[in-house]
Amino acid sequence: MSPTKKPIHETLDWPKVKGLTEQQVVTLGRCGTPQQFWSMATTFLAGTCPFCQREHFDGDVAKEFKYWFVFQPYGTYNRHSGSLMTRWVVAYRTRTGARHPSRLSEIPEKAWAEMEEVVNFLDPNQTDPGGALYVRFGDPRYNGCTVPNHLHWVYDVPNGLEKVRPAIYKDEAGWKKDLERFKAYWRVFEQSKTIDEFIEKWEAG
Ligand SMILES: [Zn+2]
Repeated sequence: MSPTKKPIHETLDWPKVKGLTEQQVVTLGRCGTPQQFWSMATTFLAGTCPFCQREHFDGDVAKEFKYWFVFQPYGTYNRHSGSLMTRWVVAYRTRTGARHPSRLSEIPEKAWAEMEEVVNFLDPNQTDPGGALYVRFGDPRYNGCTVPNHLHWVYDVPNGLEKVRPAIYKDEAGWKKDLERFKAYWRVFEQSKTIDEFIEKWEAG
């Protein structure tokens, strides 16, 4: 990168929203459905993290390990259900009272070792034909995640019907689309008191 060039996301005018960091605003712009936007926005505004306080995920947690927990995103949380045979998310299991890890250096040695058990759980009979296991760490503006600053792995097996590319950083058009999506959701969110009202208004356009 030449020194005069800025990262694309820094060239856009992100709205300042009380109670939300710019990183949270960015990830809210990635929400694929109003259900996801509502639960993420209310979680952020309550000052919590959806992977630390797991009320939105508990129903789907497939297994709790000592350092990790594993789930398959709901249909409404997964924009890629048309192109993937399987998607697992493996998120760090934050100890009560502790802060979630964001950087690779924060993962204890025993948690790395436990990943062997986790991957055996994800594909117990080694029947997945192939795929990719990748870890999202650090600043969400640079890793494409939807839950910011809580380190997690994504395990994707394509179904062979469509292109699949792990999204890490978007082009300018992609960033602008996320920004506009955030603004559109936020306008409706601000006028809604319940999730049902929010979805109804969103769908009515
Ligand atoms: Zn967290």
